[in-house]
Amino acid sequence: MKILVTGGAGYIGSHTVLSLLNNGYEVVVYDNLCNSSEVSLQRVQQLAGNTVEFVQGDIQDKSALTALFKQYPIDAVIHFAALKAVGESTQLPLAYYQNNVHGTLCLLEAMQVANVHQFIFSSSATVYGEENAVPYVETMTLGTPSSPYGASKVMVERVMADVALANAQFKGVSLRYFNPIGAHPSGQIGEDPKGIPNNLLPYVAQVAVGKRDKLNIFGGDYPTADGSCERDYLHVMDLADGHVAALDWLIKNEQFTGVEAFNLGTGTPVSVFAIVNAFEQATGKTIAYDVAPRRAGDLPAFWADANKAKIQLNWHASRTLQQMMEDTWNWQSNNPNGFDS
Ligand code: NAD
Ligand code: UDP
Repeated sequence: MKILVTGGAGYIGSHTVLSLLNNGYEVVVYDNLCNSSEVSLQRVQQLAGNTVEFVQGDIQDKSALTALFKQYPIDAVIHFAALKAVGESTQLPLAYYQNNVHGTLCLLEAMQVANVHQFIFSSSATVYGEENAVPYVETMTLGTPSSPYGASKVMVERVMADVALANAQFKGVSLRYFNPIGAHPSGQIGEDPKGIPNNLLPYVAQVAVGKRDKLNIFGGDYPTADGSCERDYLHVMDLADGHVAALDWLIKNEQFTGVEAFNLGTGTPVSVFAIVNAFEQATGKTIAYDVAPRRAGDLPAFWADANKAKIQLNWHASRTLQQMMEDTWNWQSNNPNGFDS
């Protein structure tokens, strides 16, 4: 089986490509490298002892996509390619809707022309918006995310539902990720954010390695047990394996058409203070921090109801918080400047 992975050079994509290769799938990666390095794919190939076809290109380039589907007999598409910085999306909404929504339309059109109907989409817990109570369950009506980034994910989920109504062969899976962290245990691939990290773990790791002075903990007065926000952090290798489980399910389940959504999370909320403690314990490093004002748009706490993926996909997040911290540190300390190290 040949799988097209858009955005496969990025953080989650590269770990997923490795899991796909290790499970016997052939992979073609299509990525414009706007937020990644081809070095990630070289390392994936070394780790897997197997090769990946790489085509550099943009998902908004329809003729390049048409040529891609002509060149390779693709069985299914896993679609990671997107811009993902929540704060930046409020400054550049048009760029986010262009890339994430229009880009996905171009991809779905090219798939339709090529007669490829199996599609797995990188969605996010943000689609539940502010309206829904926690834990989030897949049966909930989607909410209204506060950022253009979140709205772009809701829009694509809607597009998938409409495509499925119009095309009886369409088999779509929307994977709603909670908070992926960590890295492959080899320390060879991991998250390599450009500039100042927006996300908690990359920031913590850069404080530990001496690239940043201290962490700002955004808000210590939330209505949670210790006053900081709570999230559902899962190991990126568990998330990668979740894609293989979803793909296996899609392929084996011949009767299935339509769209099915799955939460990929642990089902357990963890606070920002608990993350700092866990990192310090796992690595022996001390993380200097200040408790700073709340960050605009942050919700106090959200986590997954992770039962549907467990029952239907036979998948659950098994790696511990300690492994997430050790693997983050292994990657960061071996590659202090990411793939440029
Ligand atoms: P990433 O930035 O590391 O990976 C995205 C990849 O897509 C990059 O390699 C980038 O170069 C590529 N890309 C972006 N726009 C493109 C375009 N127009 N054409 C071709 N390639 C393009 O991000 P990630 O953390 O690996 O996220 C992957 C997916 O998961 C994204 O869709 C993101 O929205 C989603 N997601 C991420 C998280 C998270 O916390 N990291 C949470 C929920 C959902
Ligand atoms: N956070 C923080 N300091 C940082 C980055 C993040 O305190 O430098 C907090 C943030 O307020 C949130 C949690 O860490 O409560 C997770 O944030 P992240 O941006 O990683 O994920 P998301 O907001 O998407 O859940």
